[in-house]
Amino acid sequence: MRLHLQVGAATDIGQVRDHNEDGYLVDHDVGLIAVADGMGGHRGGEVASATALEALRVAFVAGAPIDEAVDVANDAVHEQSIADPKLRGMGTTLTAGSFDDEGHLVLGHVGDSRAYLARDGELERVTTDHSLVEELIQAGELTPDEAERDPRRSMITRALGLEPSVVVDIIELDLRDGDRLLLCSDGLTTMVGEDDIASLLAEEPDAATAADRLVDAANAAGGVDNITVVVIDVVGDAASPESESESESESESESDERAAERPDGVAHEPADDAEPRTRRWFGLRR
Ligand code: MG
Repeated sequence: MRLHLQVGAATDIGQVRDHNEDGYLVDHDVGLIAVADGMGGHRGGEVASATALEALRVAFVAGAPIDEAVDVANDAVHEQSIADPKLRGMGTTLTAGSFDDEGHLVLGHVGDSRAYLARDGELERVTTDHSLVEELIQAGELTPDEAERDPRRSMITRALGLEPSVVVDIIELDLRDGDRLLLCSDGLTTMVGEDDIASLLAEEPDAATAADRLVDAANAAGGVDNITVVVIDVVGDAASPESESESESESESESDERAAERPDGVAHEPADDAEPRTRRWFGLRR
């Protein structure tokens, strides 16, 4: 069965930070979706996430599989941090997924952004955080509940761009009709518990509205960090040729709009609520 995806995404500065160091990428043409959460002094965090997403996209479009594309993104951030003293030490998380039209998903993952799969009413975390508290959980020194409140919960043990090379977790999943995938930064998961995330995803059918509502929930809970959410619905249906061409022209004009809004050229969704934020992809191919 051919599958298509309906994607809704939102990013928000939150209630406390003075700029947004998160970023995300939704590339309709090649079937690539990613979330990145940058860190570093000066403008380092936002440069790191934007640099990683753009390098990932370029490498993937050129034919690199997801693991190599994440390596290329690591190199791009690392080289820039060495070249510019103001950006020294910057890094970013990166959780990136590539999809084909049969629903095969390959995730490349570094850091503590997350991917979740909602299937048959259950929400399952499919990535493992590269974080201090996750290591303490694995060692039996913290319970997951304690970790949620631990002041060290934002300390990560692996990030893109800090070293000349990085170990990338690769996770493969076969998605099916009715699945919903969530990619998010820790600004969501440190503010909103997994049970609440699961409930909201279960009750809100529209991907774009679900993304907005998750961001709203994180802000309502305090919004202490930047919040980024991408919701991907997997729908098993063949597209008609008319809707396929319509979808492509629509996504092109929106890409131009986004590029104009963002000097870094990273494809962020438009903030204007009047714009439909659900994307439809048909017949995704690498
Ligand atoms: Mg964060």
